[in-house]
Amino acid sequence: MDLTYSVEHEKYREEVIDFLKGWPLSGEDARLPIEEQESLFRQHGIDAGYVYRNVPREYGGAGQAPDALKDSIVREEFFRVSAPWDLLNQGAGMLVPTLLEFGTEEQKRRFIPKALTGEERWCQGYSEPGSGSDLASLQCRALRDEEHYVLNGQKIWTSNAKQAHFMFGLFRTDPAASKHAGISYLIVDMSAEGIDVRPLREMTGGSEFNEVFFNDARVPVEFRVGAEGEGWAVSRATLIHERNLIGNPNMMRDTFEDLLDLARRTQRGGQAAIKDPYVRQRLMEIEGYVRTVETSNMLQFTATLRGEPMKAMRPMMMNKLYSTDTMQRIQRCAFDLLGGEGMLAPSPEDIVGWARNTTSTGWVEAYLFSLGPAIAGGASNIQLNIIGERGYGLPRDPRPPEKS
Ligand SMILES: Cc1cc2nc3c(=O)[nH]c(=O)nc-3n(C[C@H](O)[C@H](O)[C@H](O)COP(=O)(O)OP(=O)(O)OC[C@H]3O[C@@H](n4cnc5c(N)ncnc54)[C@H](O)[C@@H]3O)c2cc1C
Repeated sequence: MDLTYSVEHEKYREEVIDFLKGWPLSGEDARLPIEEQESLFRQHGIDAGYVYRNVPREYGGAGQAPDALKDSIVREEFFRVSAPWDLLNQGAGMLVPTLLEFGTEEQKRRFIPKALTGEERWCQGYSEPGSGSDLASLQCRALRDEEHYVLNGQKIWTSNAKQAHFMFGLFRTDPAASKHAGISYLIVDMSAEGIDVRPLREMTGGSEFNEVFFNDARVPVEFRVGAEGEGWAVSRATLIHERNLIGNPNMMRDTFEDLLDLARRTQRGGQAAIKDPYVRQRLMEIEGYVRTVETSNMLQFTATLRGEPMKAMRPMMMNKLYSTDTMQRIQRCAFDLLGGEGMLAPSPEDIVGWARNTTSTGWVEAYLFSLGPAIAGGASNIQLNIIGERGYGLPRDPRPPEKS
């Protein structure tokens, strides 16, 4: 593992830092709604070659030659000043790489540019009641009617569906085919008739999740990604990107630093909590996890730079599992430190601790939220199965018989 950057890369870092003096926006631009400011700055970043470095120019990206070190420098510096960077959302983060791999030329030109800037928002329609971990058992139908598919059924846990312009999702186009073979990957215009989005209330108090009902909603055939009946293979690509999105070591390190700060400011037994042996022990244990995630990230990075993608596979599978678990440990510890005050959150202490890189109101909301990412994109138990079976070649877990 080599942790030093070359002179050329350090010069590149200086250029990025210089560019970032343009954020936050000033003058007339600073009066735009914040979403528009972010889209605009992202577009400046694309034009300057820093944002979406690897997406070709013809599809709205920066079209730069691959350079993992430059990617890392951009990520670090943009994160440091909380500047709008690659959108880590369903559109830019998941749909775009999938379209780049499987989309038609027309789909790439139509959908990628606005997904990158965030002008068009996306949601992911995979899960259904009864089809989460066992996703291939999904029942939502899309039956062919000449040049359209007609959708009927229900999706659930669809994050941000209420705000989304489009959904990418999995639908059963051939109910008679075997479980995996009858599924197609479709793009759905959320403004089409016959689509009903109903928000669900979460324990954080927010309503990010939704149920989506389809009642004879129509999707043009040219909005299918990949061949009919081959949606399962397309969806695997999206899921890999989703799992890699979850878990940002920079954010984890910052959150851990915030936790240390909270431990310095919180009293326990008449002294700063950080002086309490039990709290120190717990903080050290958590730091062990944080460092493990960082080191694993560095190992993958080095392997990628050396052109050893296969060697990087196992740690990549572990990314999601360990980063979501570590975030939960950090948030749980903060929640415990806040004690009774945490139950009454948000308090001033609470807000200070977490305000830096998130819109969350405080540690308590962050703790409640931290339980979700371990389930989203494949629950931790499923990740363990994948790592054991595909990463280490262990015998397969017994599977229940297929539903007919
Ligand atoms: C924050 C968040 C955001 C989400 N966003 C979206 C979204 O935008 N779009 C979307 O389509 N879905 C979304 N989901 C849904 C998510 O993909 C599912 O919740 C997840 O796949 C688990 O499915 P399930 O909830 O049906 O649980 P189940 O599959 O019923 O699992 C219940 C429990 O059983 C365990 N389990 C199940 N099968 C096995 C097995 N074979 N071996 C061992 N243990 C097993 C699981 O680990 C889990 O603990 C989101 C979920 C969360 C929490």
